[in-house]
Amino acid sequence: SYSFTIVMDLNLKDKVFVVTGGGKGIGEAITKGAAAEGATVIIVSRTDIEGTPLENWLKAHNAVYGFIKAELSDEDQCKKAIEEILMRYGDIYCLVNNAGVNDGVGLQQGTVEKFINSLFTNLIHYYALSHYAVESLKRTKGNIINISSKTAVTGQGNTSGYAASKGAQLALTREWAVEMLPYEVRVNCVIPAEVYTPLYDSWIKTFPNPEEKLKSITDKIPLGKRMTTSEEIASMVLYLASEKASHITGQHLFVDGGYTHLDRAL
Ligand code: NAP
Repeated sequence: SYSFTIVMDLNLKDKVFVVTGGGKGIGEAITKGAAAEGATVIIVSRTDIEGTPLENWLKAHNAVYGFIKAELSDEDQCKKAIEEILMRYGDIYCLVNNAGVNDGVGLQQGTVEKFINSLFTNLIHYYALSHYAVESLKRTKGNIINISSKTAVTGQGNTSGYAASKGAQLALTREWAVEMLPYEVRVNCVIPAEVYTPLYDSWIKTFPNPEEKLKSITDKIPLGKRMTTSEEIASMVLYLASEKASHITGQHLFVDGGYTHLDRAL
């Protein structure tokens, strides 16, 4: 019988979160959400957050945060980033693999070299950072959250490297969840579909009439005919990271207003 009351205190205070690409878009919302919960948030990204509205927000909210500059397609920089985090902030409780670029390497238009580069941009660092952080995660009984994309299951066209990376992230979520069972390290995946971020903005602008294209997409989003917000993705990440999700592992969570699975003709 249950003798406790369920209160959604995520209990993340002082826990170390690492958010790749945590300075923009979905990553920025995750950074803010974790900071608001009292976590120590380390942003790992290639563009400095110094003087940005995000940094001003973090300061105004007395957040405990750090920034590590790294080009994540370089494995060596991934290793150094984790080493520096462990040295400066201690053990990692949650690694959010989020950084990625929908880089348009198509089956017809791409080259093998560009395809391989796309895997470095989008996939290899998910493994590298998780690999270098895993002993620390075992000590904290922490968790990994991979941000994938609907393109992993729907395709998009003209983006083989990105789609392959996103698909691999789904497989690795299951694979790592299994390998980490003995250590009670949970591994989950959050799958956005349509979220208006700087990445999305640059993608939509590749179309001749971006506004028309955007409307044709939002018209097909079943719940509310609107884009998902970065904050709605972040809420799922924070819940999954918390002890409230203590029996959830190896899962693929779609936060997309029904875009991927519901009948869009309705
Ligand atoms: P975003 O607005 O472009 O932000 C991504 C951040 O990651 C940027 O700060 C970017 O740095 C950084 N980054 C990318 N590659 C990096 C690298 N190699 N090394 C270091 N930093 C790197 O993207 P977003 O839309 O928030 O996307 C975040 C995640 O959500 C991605 O994994 C994406 O696949 C996924 N997703 C997004 C959508 C959507 O609708 N937006 C849909 C499905 C999935 P720079 O600013 O320097 O480039």
